[in-house]
Amino acid sequence: MSTFKVVVVGGSIAGLTLANILERYSINYVVLEKHPTIAPQLGASVGTLPHGARILDQLGIFSRVDEISMPVDESEALGPDAVVLGKTEPFGDLMEDLLGYRMRFLDRQQLLQALYGGLKDKSKIHTNSECVKIEELDEGVRVTLKDGSIIQGDILVGADGVHSRMRNEIWRIAESERADYPVSELSRSIQCQYKCMFGISKRPEGVPDNKSFKCYHRGRSYLTSSGKDGKFYWFAFVKNPDLTIHTSIPRYTTQDEEDLAAEIADDPLFLDITFKDLYNSRMGSVLVPLEEFVLKRCFYKRAILIGDSFHKMNPLLGQGGNSAIESAGFLADLLKGVLDKTPHPDDDTLQRIFLEFQEERCPRTTGLMEATKKVQQMEILENPILEFLQLKVTTQLGGEHLGPMLAAASNSAHTLKYLPKKFRRGAVSLDEEVKANPHDRPAIATALAIPFILAATKFGWQAVLPIYFAFHIYFSGSRSFYHPSPRTINPLAAKALP
Ligand SMILES: Cc1cc2nc3c(=O)[nH]c(=O)nc-3n(C[C@H](O)[C@H](O)[C@H](O)COP(=O)(O)OP(=O)(O)OC[C@H]3O[C@@H](n4cnc5c(N)ncnc54)[C@H](O)[C@@H]3O)c2cc1C
Repeated sequence: MSTFKVVVVGGSIAGLTLANILERYSINYVVLEKHPTIAPQLGASVGTLPHGARILDQLGIFSRVDEISMPVDESEALGPDAVVLGKTEPFGDLMEDLLGYRMRFLDRQQLLQALYGGLKDKSKIHTNSECVKIEELDEGVRVTLKDGSIIQGDILVGADGVHSRMRNEIWRIAESERADYPVSELSRSIQCQYKCMFGISKRPEGVPDNKSFKCYHRGRSYLTSSGKDGKFYWFAFVKNPDLTIHTSIPRYTTQDEEDLAAEIADDPLFLDITFKDLYNSRMGSVLVPLEEFVLKRCFYKRAILIGDSFHKMNPLLGQGGNSAIESAGFLADLLKGVLDKTPHPDDDTLQRIFLEFQEERCPRTTGLMEATKKVQQMEILENPILEFLQLKVTTQLGGEHLGPMLAAASNSAHTLKYLPKKFRRGAVSLDEEVKANPHDRPAIATALAIPFILAATKFGWQAVLPIYFAFHIYFSGSRSFYHPSPRTINPLAAKALP
C-alpha cells in the first residue's frame, strides 16, 4: 500500500468506484461519506451502459450487477395520445451484439451495495463523516468534518455530487488566492432547464420483463422500465418555464412534487396506464431539478472534482452515473501512472495529471451532455419541427439506427489501464484498441507523383484523376490497422459477423 493518501469525499457511484480501483491498485485512500449508511434507499434507479459495465467488469463487480438488474431488451415509443409510434425490439440484442453489454436497470441503492461489496477492506469507508471545510491545499490536504475532526492526505477528490460542498470550498480558496481563477464563470455555467420526478412503483399488470417505454408529450416526457422483483422504474422530465442558474436553481419540497403529480396525473402513458397509476403505486419518489453542466476547471492545487460535482447531465440517456464511473477510472489510472514512478509526486506532476484529466474528460462529458440535451428537446416535442421529426421520423426508424450512436458514445470510453481487460466484447472494437499502423509512403509512390503532376498540367486533372485514385487505393492498402475485432459501426454488417 502506498504512503501517498487520497482523501475521497462522497461515498456514492464516483467515490466508491474510485475506492475499488485504488484498492486494486494498492493506493492508500479514505472515503468520507456524510450519510450514516452507504447506499440509502432514495427511490432512485440507475441504468448501466456498456462503458460503465466494462469498468465494473474489470473490478469483478459486474457479475453481481448482472444478477440483480433487469436488461432493457425492447423499448416502445408512444406519442401524446399513447399511440405506439415505434418499437426498438432488438434493442437488447443490438447492444449486446455491438458493444458486449445490454443496458440494465437496478435500484441505485443496489449498485452502491455492489460497489461497497466489492471492497475487501471496508475500514477505509467512513460514514457519518460530513466534510465541511478544506483547511489546506498546499503540499498536502486537510479537511474538517462536521464533528470537528481533521483528516489529512496528499490529494482530495471531491465526489460529493451535484451540490458539492468541496467544489464551493475549492472555489473559496482559489478565489482568495488567484484573481484569475474563473469562479463566477464556473458558477454561471451551472444551469437548469428541466426538473425530473422519479420513482419506483409496483409493476403495472401486463408489463413484461425487460421492457421500457418512452412517452412523448408537449413540454414533458416519460421514461419507464421494468425492474426485478415486480418493480417498475419511472422518470417524468418536465421543462421549466425559465432557465435558472447556480444559486437560483430551485430545490423542491414534497408539496411541489405533489402539485406536479396532480398537474400531470392524467397524461396517458402506455397500455391504458396514466401517470397517476404509477404515482399512486409508488414505493418512493422524489422531485429534483436537473442541473446540466461540465465545469471548464475541475481542480485547484491538490483538490480535484469527479462525478456529478464536475459533470452533471440530464439522466435521460443514463450517462451521469456511467460517466462518474469513467471519470473515477481515468483519474485512478493517471495516479497509478505517476505513483509507479515516484511514491510522492511533486506539485508540478500532480498539476500535470489533473490538467490531463480535465482536458480528456471535459470534451467527452460535454459531448454526452449536449447529445442528451438534443434528445430531450425532441422528446418533449419542443417545437413543431422537432415534434414532426420525433413523432413521424425518428420513432419510425426502429432500433438499428441507434447502433452507430450507441457505439460512438460507448466505445470511445476509457477502460482501466492497469487491470486485465477482462470484459465482454461486441462486434465494434473499442477506440483504444484500434491501432493505426501507417507505413512510410513507398518511394515508388513519391516517384509516380511527379509524372502525375506533369501529366495533369498537360492533359488536365480530370484525365489523370481515375489513374491517381487507382494508385491511391493500391498504395493505401499498405497501411494496416490492428484491431482484435472487426471495426464497424454498421449494425447490419456487425450482425453478419461470426
Ligand atoms: C432521476 C435521476 C435518474 C438517474 N438515472 C441514471 C441512470 O439511469 N444512469 C446513470 O448513469 N445515471 C443516472 N443518474 C445520474 C446518477 O445518479 C449520477 O450521475 C450519479 O449518482 C453521480 O454520482 P456521484 O458519486 O458523482 O454523486 P452522488 O451520487 O450525488 O453522490 C454524492 C455523495 O456524496 C455525499 N456527500 C455530499 N456532500 C458531502 C459532504 N460534504 N461530505 C461527505 N459526503 C458528502 C452524498 O451523501 C453522496 O453519497 C440519474 C440521476 C437522477 C437525478
